[in-house]
Amino acid sequence: MHWRTLHSYARWSAFYDTPQWHVLRKATLRRYGFRCQKCGATNTELHVDHIRPRSRFPKLAMDPDNLQVLCRACNYAKRGRIADYRHGQVVPPQRIGLTRAECVMFVCAVGALLAAVVSQ
Ligand SMILES: [Zn+2]
Repeated sequence: MHWRTLHSYARWSAFYDTPQWHVLRKATLRRYGFRCQKCGATNTELHVDHIRPRSRFPKLAMDPDNLQVLCRACNYAKRGRIADYRHGQVVPPQRIGLTRAECVMFVCAVGALLAAVVSQ
């Protein structure tokens, strides 16, 4: 690995050691009740995830509204995609370019949710 790559990686990961990030991370965990916003897990390793990734949206790195709480498994499962799981929602498919199969799943999930609400 070139020293320059190493250097930028060090700066990249140093972000997570800043006191500002620690404060924001804690506040985000509290804001969402220390609960994974995708699967609802509470008693597990929780990550504070950047909805719009820092690599592409550096200005949103410290924006409280760009953060969500995900457990380790859900965070790794969404790798590389932009998915907003706050309020039980995924960002509408046309905005993040989901595959056809994912669109179908999204529509089915919404349908199931509506059916559940209607049947109550
Ligand atoms: Zn989860």
